[in-house]
Amino acid sequence: MQEKLELLKRLQEIDLRIRKISINIDEYPRKIAEVEEKLSQKRIVCEQRKKTLEELERDRKKKEDNLRFEEERVKQWEARLKEIKNNRDYQALLREIAAAKRDNSLMEEEILKELEEIEEIKKELEQDEPEYRHLEEEFNNTNSELKDKFAQDEKELGEQAQIREKIARDISTDLLKKYDLIRKQRAGLALVPAKNSACQGCNMDLPPQVYNEVRRNKEIILCPNCQRIIYWEEG
Ligand SMILES: [Zn+2]
Repeated sequence: MQEKLELLKRLQEIDLRIRKISINIDEYPRKIAEVEEKLSQKRIVCEQRKKTLEELERDRKKKEDNLRFEEERVKQWEARLKEIKNNRDYQALLREIAAAKRDNSLMEEEILKELEEIEEIKKELEQDEPEYRHLEEEFNNTNSELKDKFAQDEKELGEQAQIREKIARDISTDLLKKYDLIRKQRAGLALVPAKNSACQGCNMDLPPQVYNEVRRNKEIILCPNCQRIIYWEEG
């Protein structure tokens, strides 16, 4: 009996290791997706900023052209003032010139405001660049790191599976089936010690009769509560 249990213990060690590696492998795509998401979010922000910058530059250029045109017109009107003899016409043109100048100074203010916005966005873009490069580096590092880990894990999985096969050959089919079934039902832990008269799998106290049987170590005993295989351990 002792030998059977020893084999099962070794088998379980391997199975737990295989389980842990498999969980790691399942985690890798999520980890890489997380970093990739951060990178692509940053890219979207940068692109959005660049687009806004282009729009503002275009708008500013249009406003400046417009302003130059209007200023030129005011100059022409001012030149014409000298030639006007009629007072009413003179006053009317003066009013028009004053109104045009007001409009022009409003436009000038708008242009200045846009220039400030443009400077602000340029500053943000300057900050974006190193941040983006940093995220890109993080992504590349994580990617290659996880690829290495994945290769290592796959290799170890193969090795562990081979060792498992060897050990399993020495265990009877019935016992192996029972072990595998409990393992699947109990999150990988099929074999637990009984210590201080309690099952260490579910922590329930074992009936004295069961505990004694475990101590005698004559046959495979299951915990009456969690159905795991229990073996005796001094405690
Ligand atoms: Zn139990």
